[in-house]
Amino acid sequence: MSMYEIDSAYVRKCQKRLQEWGAPLSGWYCDYIYDVADEEEDADHIELFTCELCDCAQVRFVHVMSHDEYFEPVAVGCICAGIMEGDILAARERERLMKNRAKRKRSFPHRQWSKNWYGNYQLTYQGRKVFINNKCSNRYSVCVDGKTAWSYKGKPLDNFVSAAYAAFELADPIERIRP
Ligand SMILES: [Zn+2]
Repeated sequence: MSMYEIDSAYVRKCQKRLQEWGAPLSGWYCDYIYDVADEEEDADHIELFTCELCDCAQVRFVHVMSHDEYFEPVAVGCICAGIMEGDILAARERERLMKNRAKRKRSFPHRQWSKNWYGNYQLTYQGRKVFINNKCSNRYSVCVDGKTAWSYKGKPLDNFVSAAYAAFELADPIERIRP
């Protein structure tokens, strides 16, 4: 364990709560991580998440932790994730990769897209051909490496920006930075 940087009172508080839940103190792993505001340009309007373990209300990157002997996942911030998995450096690295991805995602719609004769947009991103097809004014679909999407977060692609985000999810998936 590399807990050297963390206040031991904080660690004890987290472990006490796990005990109260009847949950294991170690052996947790990160199932997935998500950004509560991955396309939010305006930092003042982000609704942050409250860590389920320490009640810190300032969590932007949520680490969803699972344990083979516990009945439900626990969604926490970076430090609590590090405590639960016994590796704060791994949790920090995961969060760093997510932050970098969030920056790439925010800038993705603003990249140099070229427009072809049919009115479709394209670019090459990390060696992949990314296409945004605009069939009629407010109908978009996207295609990356033969994978196609017509929606983003459950909504039809009715504008360029949401189409670009849908394309980004195919071109730069979170799975690639999973533990
Ligand atoms: Zn926490």
